Amino acid sequence: MPTLAQLDRKYVWHPFTQMRDWLRREPIVIAAGRGAVLIDTKGREYLDANSSIWTNLHGHRQPAIDAALKRQLGKIAHSSALGLASGPASLLAAQLIRLASPSPRQKPRRVFFSDDGSTAMEAALKMAYEFARRSGQSRKPRFLSLASAYHGDTVGAVSLGHIDRFHRAYRGLLFQTDSVMAPFCYRCPFNRARPERADARLGRKCQWECAGLLERKFSAQKKKGRPYAAFVFEPLIQGAAGMVPQPEGWLQRAADMARGHGALLVADEVMTGFCRTGPMFACQKESVSPDLMALAKGMTGGYLPMAATLASAAVFDAFLGDYAECKTFFHGHSYTANQLGSAAALASLRLLQSSASVRARRELQKVLGDSLQSLWRLPAVGDIRQVGLIAGVELVRNWRTRQPYPWRERVGIRVCEALARRGVLTRPAGNVIVLMPPYCATPAQIRRMVSALAESVEEICGSAL
Ligand SMILES: *Cc1c(COP(=O)(O)O)cnc(C)c1O
Repeated sequence: MPTLAQLDRKYVWHPFTQMRDWLRREPIVIAAGRGAVLIDTKGREYLDANSSIWTNLHGHRQPAIDAALKRQLGKIAHSSALGLASGPASLLAAQLIRLASPSPRQKPRRVFFSDDGSTAMEAALKMAYEFARRSGQSRKPRFLSLASAYHGDTVGAVSLGHIDRFHRAYRGLLFQTDSVMAPFCYRCPFNRARPERADARLGRKCQWECAGLLERKFSAQKKKGRPYAAFVFEPLIQGAAGMVPQPEGWLQRAADMARGHGALLVADEVMTGFCRTGPMFACQKESVSPDLMALAKGMTGGYLPMAATLASAAVFDAFLGDYAECKTFFHGHSYTANQLGSAAALASLRLLQSSASVRARRELQKVLGDSLQSLWRLPAVGDIRQVGLIAGVELVRNWRTRQPYPWRERVGIRVCEALARRGVLTRPAGNVIVLMPPYCATPAQIRRMVSALAESVEEICGSAL
């Protein structure tokens, strides 16, 4: 009998993985999970330090979600949303709308369900495209998104993204979108201090040059007579770019500009949604109310693949008409509005809003921030960035000059391999090590993640100052 590891190596093709490297080593085969812990087939325990790629919110085998799924299994697992409604999906849509539009001034929205972050963005993209055409703005609407943006791996989502290495591989397949510099205070090309910092000792005073670039981009396009149909962004923090937070106030400025120039706001909350950054949705921190919002990853608490695109009333209305007008939104997937997924999402939303969970998140955020301070003593640590329960530790060859490690050295990957040997699992974004613990993690578990990271960085990058 072949072992499970042998079967994997013989038959499975892993995502974002150089399979030649994969085949050289024994894979970790996960057999079970409990809270923030993953257990492999040999009985070894690991901390799930990136919440299983940013999806898991309350830990594995969470009793309330398990129970909700069992209850739903006693009724039905799936029925189609093409032509049929279902209880869990209707309840979930109502909840999502309520949570996304806390103020009654904001227009009601609609929920379009799909399967993952990429499909949620793909739906948003098509909605924005058709909306712009129907409102007479342009026959070929153009999109503006941020440099280093990541919005998923389907062709439309990759077109909206601007991570060079992914983009280059498929250039011939993609459609043209424009990009604008994203704020990145640690590597600010204008050498400014952070705008929220009262004293500006670390650089000349920030004049929001990055926001100025954005304004110029919108104006230039308008002058050409082809204003942007939509501005697409990851709110508060760009994930795959390397956990790059936006300075306080940037999002609101950017949103005001986009609105001023008549562009739809498309918020990709796939990573930031469901209290990752603090509020239910990151946009709420800066009182930004997007026209389209994509949700996925944490939506079912990390249990099942399910996603949603929330649309404003105006966007929704653009798709209403007589059958023969063909204004229908011609888009959908087999598992859209899956009943099991909806049941898990409803249970997860209940947990998220419980006062115990709110309190735990607040405490963990502080514990994470405090523990991370211990990493500053390591010379390879160039920057430590944290937004809510998302942390990124950027490793650099020289912290004085901020010189990065060349990507070919695979420093991020090697540090994560060293972490795995210490019983902590995560994945890097380039040379940035990501810590994104599930909300059920204990303070002791968070401290263990950070101390294992310190040891791993010392092992791979050295400790001499
Ligand atoms: C992960 C991610 C996506 C893609 O989601 P998938 O579920 O992997 O398709 C899109 N946008 C952001 C911001 C993400 O982090």
